[in-house]
Amino acid sequence: MRRKDSYCTFMVKRLTVHKSAIQIEKNSTEGSRESGRLVGGCIHAALLIFLSLAACSNPNVRAGVQVVGDISNESGIQLNLPAACEHWRPILIHELNAVRAGYLKMRTWSESELAPSNLQMEVCIDEYSAGRLMRLRNLEGTPRVARTYPSHRLAIVPLPRRDLLLLNRQRPPLTWLQTFRHEAAHLLSLDDSNFRSSPVWFQEGVAESLAGERTDPWYSQDLWRDGLHEKDLGQPVTELWEGLSAEGLLQARQLVAESAIRVGGATPWQQAGDWTIQDFLNSAGLPAAKKRINLMTQLGREFDPPSEASSSFLATYPGQTCTAVVEPLWGGGSRQWGIRLGSSGSAEGGLLVSGEGPNQLRLRFGRTGGFGAQMETKGAVGFQPLGSPTPARAGKERQVKLVVQGNQLLVEMENLRESFSLDDKFRPPFRVEAWAHDSAMSVKGRSSFLEASLRLR
Ligand SMILES: [Zn+2]
Repeated sequence: MRRKDSYCTFMVKRLTVHKSAIQIEKNSTEGSRESGRLVGGCIHAALLIFLSLAACSNPNVRAGVQVVGDISNESGIQLNLPAACEHWRPILIHELNAVRAGYLKMRTWSESELAPSNLQMEVCIDEYSAGRLMRLRNLEGTPRVARTYPSHRLAIVPLPRRDLLLLNRQRPPLTWLQTFRHEAAHLLSLDDSNFRSSPVWFQEGVAESLAGERTDPWYSQDLWRDGLHEKDLGQPVTELWEGLSAEGLLQARQLVAESAIRVGGATPWQQAGDWTIQDFLNSAGLPAAKKRINLMTQLGREFDPPSEASSSFLATYPGQTCTAVVEPLWGGGSRQWGIRLGSSGSAEGGLLVSGEGPNQLRLRFGRTGGFGAQMETKGAVGFQPLGSPTPARAGKERQVKLVVQGNQLLVEMENLRESFSLDDKFRPPFRVEAWAHDSAMSVKGRSSFLEASLRLR
């Protein structure tokens, strides 16, 4: 489906929700996906499987880039930034230039000049600011959903929240940068009449291709294969994305568009449009079967994987939740994390420890300094009060230490020492997940599993 005045939402990448639930072109904003379940069994066997599979993946370039010194904007897009993000300008201009260069390189459908002008990219500090701008310009849509407005030659990309923990970072979160690049690709293609006559799947696939590759362990490259069966291989390629999650849909369109472009010609989308799914797999050199096991799951937006310079980072849109596994298979010894919450929103976050059995342990921090540890049933929703507000702890990095000792899991949080019995309802191997609700949150911590997977990139 295609709207006349817009053709993109960020939410397709932001939340991995089922397509029928989100209706991408309808700009629905709510959605969630069941978290991936812990892959049980022997830790060492799973680690070996993961490492051997990771070793087969291609080394690629991270979408985030380092920019040093002055850089000139060659993209033809005017970048309007909130003052609080002005320090991101060199990075974002670098990204705009990269998207333009990538777009020019992939255009098999035209050799004509592309001299975009009068294009505007508005980065809004939060969805409220985006809403004000939309009302001012009489624009439709949902303010938290990034979107390009062709007739206004304008793209609006909101940040998840106005929070110093986010704004003080050296660069925006990786997932947000991808949205930024995706919308920039739509903007740059506005005057490319040949391209604009192509089907939506091709235009979205190209924009997603230009959004930048991810090779961090949290990104599953196989979502497009969900639900793909041998019996479907003779179906038209456009059936590939029927019933996929929103993120899988984007992946599928990207892969088919990239394969079509490799074939080339003036209308690559037409040749590819005649493909069966098997033709596409042959063209792309991809097997139909799933190859990888992804233990590092991540849900919700926005997320920045850790780098040498910075820790893992989560920043949600108002009222939403973002999660990322920080330790996928942990069975013994001790682990320690440093958690820091922002000060915007209701600001709550922490860790969730789940293993074999129906129970899970939730470790919570609040922005006013309260904290708590509670055992809960998986899938159940419950509310328990946080400890007393302690202003001295607010805004500080707070430590959590977990130790598996005998048949106990010991938890040290601030001045709390508590032990939880390991039994049929709660036992290793554990998966530890960072979660942030209506908040920005950074998570420092070492994981030998993660370090091994990063070395193999
Ligand atoms: Zn789009």
